[in-house]
Amino acid sequence: MLRVGLTGGIGSGKSTVARRLAEHGAVVIDADRIAREVVEPGTDGLAEIRQAFGDDVVSDGALDRARLAQRVFTDETARTTLNGIVHPRIGARTAELMAAASQDAIVVHDVPLLVENHLGPAYHLVLVVDAPEEERVHRVVRDRGMAEQDARARIRAQATEEARRAAADVWLDNGGSRDEVLAVVDALWADRLVRYEANIRLGRRAKYGTPRLVEPDPAWPAQAARLRERIAMAAGGLAGRIDHIGSTSVPGLPAKDVIDLQVTVASLADADAMGDGLAAAGFPKLPGVDHDNPKPYAPDVAQWRKRFHAAADPGRLANVHIRVEGSPGWRYALLLPDWLRANPAERDDYLATKRELAARYTADDDTANYSEAKEAWFDAAGPRAEEWARRTGWQAG
Ligand code: ADP
Repeated sequence: MLRVGLTGGIGSGKSTVARRLAEHGAVVIDADRIAREVVEPGTDGLAEIRQAFGDDVVSDGALDRARLAQRVFTDETARTTLNGIVHPRIGARTAELMAAASQDAIVVHDVPLLVENHLGPAYHLVLVVDAPEEERVHRVVRDRGMAEQDARARIRAQATEEARRAAADVWLDNGGSRDEVLAVVDALWADRLVRYEANIRLGRRAKYGTPRLVEPDPAWPAQAARLRERIAMAAGGLAGRIDHIGSTSVPGLPAKDVIDLQVTVASLADADAMGDGLAAAGFPKLPGVDHDNPKPYAPDVAQWRKRFHAAADPGRLANVHIRVEGSPGWRYALLLPDWLRANPAERDDYLATKRELAARYTADDDTANYSEAKEAWFDAAGPRAEEWARRTGWQAG
């Protein structure tokens, strides 16, 4: 099952996108609708609200939303009471609908407050629909008869664009025509969501093509940050620090568009214990990889054991190395990026080598050769990095 979180400010076109995804076959779970259902006339949710807030928040057997809103607006205790009644019921109903979806479903959870409530890490992918504020106001005034003032007040109370961008794996710009955004959604469905779901279900990583260097993407750190949060959640309490490592973590360094992350664990037993959780969260394990190549200064392969997972998302390739805290491979993975960040001349030397190798190994099956040749550079660079670590008093972490 692929769990997609969908959000966007009022009038952005979130419902329009949700409908299109449903037409493609997505199971859409509408958080707003569930929030209404759990307090419908006759529900125990409504009965409990009545008990807590009195008869005047109910009129003709139905919840008087405006009155209840007034009561909780300025009263934090009342708000906590209300949330204590409503949230567990919404959670239970949502879980029920998720559980009812088939194993190969693409579930789209339409959640207006996804960003505000920091719910992103629970999904495999977060889609944010957006449009310029003026356009959004225009749409809801035109189509929903909302007063302009109300629309603007709602927008001001919602998450900022910056917060939405930080949460978005996919940013759907709906500032143009409806057909334009629908075409983007169609492509997203076919090229990414369908494949991502299949990869998760089959426990396989996203397909990996020829190594190709791309210019450094300023979005890499934010993408890594989202993956880290997902991994931390999936690992439960078993993960220690999670770091963005590798070339994409070094500013200004062209790299393959693959994000490397390192999960710190106390033992490989912990790494194994989190394996199924990571796979379900979109990072299946690659069973064939269980160690890094030992370096001459620590030749015993037992010291270099690790677990290796990779992203199932064809739209965001990522490698997840799980290494034991204090092991030579763990230390090395933290040292090298720090050293390259601090030494631009070394970074440029590394880049020149990468360019040369990428030009030499161009076929699809050359990835292994490319990696091996790159390691030769690192073997030579290791002592220089260690020298720098000694000189500067660098510590892992
Ligand atoms: P949301 O669910 O984010 O509040 P909707 O999908 O309901 O937004 O869209 C708000 C209104 O704008 C709806 O009436 C919808 O039909 C209309 N709309 C959505 N996308 C566009 C677009 N690209 N151009 C013009 N109108 C649009």
